[in-house]
Amino acid sequence: MMSMPLEKSPLHAPAGRIAELADQCVQCGLCLPVCPTYALDRNEAESPRGRIAIASALARGLAEPDAGLREHLDHCLGCLNCEKVCPANVQYGELLIETRALLGPAPRRPRLLLGLAKRPALLRALRRLGGWLALPRWKNRLARRLPQHSPWRTALLDLPTGTPVAPVRASGNKSEQPRLALFPGCVASIDDAEAQQAAVTLLQAAGFHVSVLPAFCCGAMDLHGGAAATAEQAAQQVRRAWAASGASQLLSVTPGCLGTLRRALPGVSVFDPVELLAARAGSLRFRPLAQRVALHLPCTQINVARTDAALLQLLRRVPELEVLPLPRPPYCCGAAGSHLLEFPARAGQLRDATLRQAATLEPQQLLSSNIGCRLHLAAGIDQQGLHWPSQHPLALLARQLEPSP
Ligand code: SF4
Ligand code: SF4
Repeated sequence: MMSMPLEKSPLHAPAGRIAELADQCVQCGLCLPVCPTYALDRNEAESPRGRIAIASALARGLAEPDAGLREHLDHCLGCLNCEKVCPANVQYGELLIETRALLGPAPRRPRLLLGLAKRPALLRALRRLGGWLALPRWKNRLARRLPQHSPWRTALLDLPTGTPVAPVRASGNKSEQPRLALFPGCVASIDDAEAQQAAVTLLQAAGFHVSVLPAFCCGAMDLHGGAAATAEQAAQQVRRAWAASGASQLLSVTPGCLGTLRRALPGVSVFDPVELLAARAGSLRFRPLAQRVALHLPCTQINVARTDAALLQLLRRVPELEVLPLPRPPYCCGAAGSHLLEFPARAGQLRDATLRQAATLEPQQLLSSNIGCRLHLAAGIDQQGLHWPSQHPLALLARQLEPSP
């Protein structure tokens, strides 16, 4: 088997830290039933317990970082379902990030595509150009001419067909010192601009003042892809923008960014606006909407933001709206940051299983808070001819919001 050099020598930091984290695992196996990759392969090496054993062996220099072991680690979705159920409190998320950093950037990482995704100004200009060239009408035909495993094929298939809306704008009186700052992100600053504006509208209606940080990448895809140095540069940009904001709390409507933002800003309160809105739900009034909606709860909303219950509570305040959370398993839709670009077949299997669960609910639309999950699911909905519109739950709530008297 092909082997790759480790970034650092075994048992030098962070290898020592990996070994320490791995030693917390008592190998009980309680995490296996909630692991989506174990459900796909029924292979111990594709389970949390197996990956912990691999990480431990690599860190201690007891195994060579060959392509096979590397792939088991790279298949991990970082969903953290395992961490949530672990009775020994194994910090699997940290262990995965440190192990991938030790190994260096994943060989399948589509560097050019990710480099583009991390430049929101360029991406917005290209999307505008694509709109003029009617790209949304022929992108799927173009994508199907590309090899099955090309990340560009997946990116084209998942590209939304609508025109991007204007970037999010701050709320309220500019002379007032903002206490909340919204982080727009990179791809989300374009494809979740509507949800971000919805968050600002809802927070303003609930009595908050919100400022908006510049749009840039938080570094999540680099951090999870083993590109530690690039992730650190992004973290430094987060810290500079945060320091300049004068705010006391940072918000993101994209649960997938929260963990990376928290890591960049230790000691800062970084959370999903749903938490604040649920706490002031009594000040928000909604118009009725007679619809049945399927609610997809991203892993990061459940395991990092931990706002799944608060979101349900908010949505259930819309009169006549029937909100049905998607049954699980599967425990992940397969998007998982850049996983859908690196392993499109595996991501497609998890998405098909998620959409089969959604179909049992016979929804009129599908809601999901994470932009990566929503684009991935929307492409599957389109390919299967299901005709369910999809949107961020906050976009639905802002549309139904009664204007203040
Ligand atoms: S549940 Fe925790 S302790 Fe048990 S095997 Fe999984 S990671 Fe290890
Ligand atoms: S993070 Fe998710 S995919 Fe990875 S080992 Fe844990 S449960 Fe499995």
